[in-house]
Amino acid sequence: MNNVNLSNVSRRRFIAAAGFGAATAVFAPHLLFAQESGIVPTMINEAARAKIEVHPLRRNISVLEGSGGNIAVLTGKSGKLLIDSGFTVSRARIAAALDDLSSDPVVRLINTHWHIDHTDGNAWVHSAGATITAHENTKKRLSTTTRVEGWSYTFPPAPAGAIPTTVFDEEHHVHHNDTRIALRYYGPAHTDSDISVLFEEADIIHVGDTWWNGFYPFIDYSTGGSIDGMIRATGRNLTVVTDKTIVLPGHTTWPS
Ligand SMILES: [Zn+2]
Ligand SMILES: [Zn+2]
Repeated sequence: MNNVNLSNVSRRRFIAAAGFGAATAVFAPHLLFAQESGIVPTMINEAARAKIEVHPLRRNISVLEGSGGNIAVLTGKSGKLLIDSGFTVSRARIAAALDDLSSDPVVRLINTHWHIDHTDGNAWVHSAGATITAHENTKKRLSTTTRVEGWSYTFPPAPAGAIPTTVFDEEHHVHHNDTRIALRYYGPAHTDSDISVLFEEADIIHVGDTWWNGFYPFIDYSTGGSIDGMIRATGRNLTVVTDKTIVLPGHTTWPS
């Protein structure tokens, strides 16, 4: 496991990783093999075993690592706001980690995109009391049977409680726990449902799966992703960060 201290993620590191495509191409055969042998079951099995690591970032924002995509958590008197929900198999350990951060209930969830490693926990987080906000295509993909050829896997429609209740097209703004949060659609990139989530005062941006730290990203051509879109998304990420910004990638580790 590659335990990265996320609080050290800087623009310089971001640029270094973003320009890392050629060097990390050596990972591609391993990743392709993993897909053929069942990347979705592999991800779930990995999450079932993984410890949930908690990294404080800045102000009242932390990240939970170990269940699918990186989960950002904003704590405060109005209740917790989560970015992404990981895998359901991690529920007990995620809930324990959230309780360790504070006693605030979970009241809001935002999804960076529709993929299972970011939305599988939606149903239990919703049942715990959270509303769910996402791009309209996240709702669309979760509401129907969806095939991802790159994973050789067909997803059934998600349960009703997992479906986002608030959706948007281009931009959406949330004010929660005295924190301004800006949600912006990338356009088709890794999928056709990717958004960035910026915590404005803390200067922390979750870029979802438009960036994986240290290894070549997956592009889901089955649900609207494209290499041109990923390049555009990376270009936008580079324009909105400074050397003070903490950039949260979708993933810092991958099932081995
Ligand atoms: Zn992911
Ligand atoms: Zn993804």
